[in-house]
Amino acid sequence: MTTHYTRAHWEDRLSTLVPNGRLFIDGKAEDAASGETFTRIRPMDGKPGAVLARGNAADIDRAVKSARKAFESGIWRHREPLEKKKIMLKWAELIRAHGEELALLETLDVGKPVMASLTVDVRLCADGIQFYAEMIDKLYDEIAPTGPNARALVRKVPLGVIGAITPWNYPMIIDAWKLGPAIAAGNSVVLKPAEQSSLTAIRLAELAVEAGIPTGVFNVVTGYGEETGKPLALHMDVDMIAFTGSTEVGKLIMGYAAQSNIKRVALELGGKSPLVVFEDADLDAAASAAAWGCFYNSGETCHASTRLLVHRSVQDALIEKIRAVTASDITLAHPFEPGAQIGALIEEAHMEKVLSMIAAGEKEGARRAFGAERVLSETGGFYVSPGVFVDTTNDMSLARQEIFGPVLAAIPFDTEEEALALANDTIYGLAGAVFTRDMGRAHRMSEAIHAGTVWINTYDMSNFSTPFGGFKQSGFGRDRSVHAIDKYCDYKTIWQQF
Ligand code: NAD
Repeated sequence: MTTHYTRAHWEDRLSTLVPNGRLFIDGKAEDAASGETFTRIRPMDGKPGAVLARGNAADIDRAVKSARKAFESGIWRHREPLEKKKIMLKWAELIRAHGEELALLETLDVGKPVMASLTVDVRLCADGIQFYAEMIDKLYDEIAPTGPNARALVRKVPLGVIGAITPWNYPMIIDAWKLGPAIAAGNSVVLKPAEQSSLTAIRLAELAVEAGIPTGVFNVVTGYGEETGKPLALHMDVDMIAFTGSTEVGKLIMGYAAQSNIKRVALELGGKSPLVVFEDADLDAAASAAAWGCFYNSGETCHASTRLLVHRSVQDALIEKIRAVTASDITLAHPFEPGAQIGALIEEAHMEKVLSMIAAGEKEGARRAFGAERVLSETGGFYVSPGVFVDTTNDMSLARQEIFGPVLAAIPFDTEEEALALANDTIYGLAGAVFTRDMGRAHRMSEAIHAGTVWINTYDMSNFSTPFGGFKQSGFGRDRSVHAIDKYCDYKTIWQQF
């Protein structure tokens, strides 16, 4: 499959690509009301990339009005379920048909290998839209038990206008996690993508209209968080904010909701997930899971396994295996190189932040086992090699703060009780894993680790059937699975007395 996906192939496609960086409101490309724009710097080579509309509160208001008009008209929510399903399925097919273009746009914005964009991000985006399309004609309402002189319908109705605010690490996938259930349930959406990664969001909106989703049902406003995300979350005519991003901004979103119209919020936030390896574990499997779990997407993954809790007796052997698997399997290279497994970090400021957190960790006494250095600087891009720190304790900054770079902190333990206490000693609760051959212990640990997902003897396995999200300061509300539809609906009782 990959033979024609050479670096030259992508360079060639890039030479003819004209990314659209305008707002998408009421089915049309629009400039920001202020006329202002900003330029995205490409993480892969530090060169100026797309020019994007710099939206503000006036643009948010236009988009919300369009979304409200579409919702109140009933043009989408009251359409025959079978028809809606066909339209959303067509949208998924269009995403697949434009896979190469979408993958290229995602890579230009994010700096991840273009083959990962194509085979993971585009695929999962289309699969996500398809999953919810297929649910549309399978949703039933209820009739509540009453006496014979009454009939009470319990209807599940869409909320209205959903504001979606998304991050830059998996833009297309996370957009689909929100757009799929929100639109399938009959809502209208105003999407505010991260300022670093707006290109695929705009293209997804264009393809939605091409598939037949009525104009106004899906709008995109690009721009900075303070200038567009904040007015969206404060807007009096938005019924819900579905947010994925940092815990810090998640807290602000709750405040905006409280200050405005008590809109609902769903928050998918940060993580500092533990991967626990006992002395009886398959160390090869654990090493591979630890490396991929932490380093995939250059560590820019909310549920990355950034804390390796390892039984003291196998720590040295495991670190050696992680070093070997990282060297042999996880190739860091320019994102157009066919063999690249990981690429650049999102932007220069983020790379500097990652490097300064590494330096702070060393100052606190953590010891570098390997990697975690700036590399490929001659390209002009923002690359940091995967690295592991040992002599780390769970109270060091490397173990407590979300670094969002390819940095693993290894922390030894001696007993199961200690491992569990360390695993749960974090403000986050997004994910975790346990590696052991003792199934009793595996089940005890997986029940007791306070996280939205716990894997046993694997990491980061999932499909659309399983909910994803966190406990504690990793947020609340779940993306994915049939349950995600519930987030975008509420119950309405219609009582008829005979
Ligand atoms: P971020 O919180 O800085 O930004 C997320 C989004 O919020 C962006 O669109 C941004 O423009 C917007 N924003 C920023 N300030 C805002 C404000 N004051 N009001 C409204 N919107 C505002 O996060 P990021 O740097 O884009 O992404 C990384 C973070 O996202 C990490 O913490 C990561 O763990 C988290 N994340 C979580 C999940 C999950 O499912 N739990 C998935 C991916 C990323």
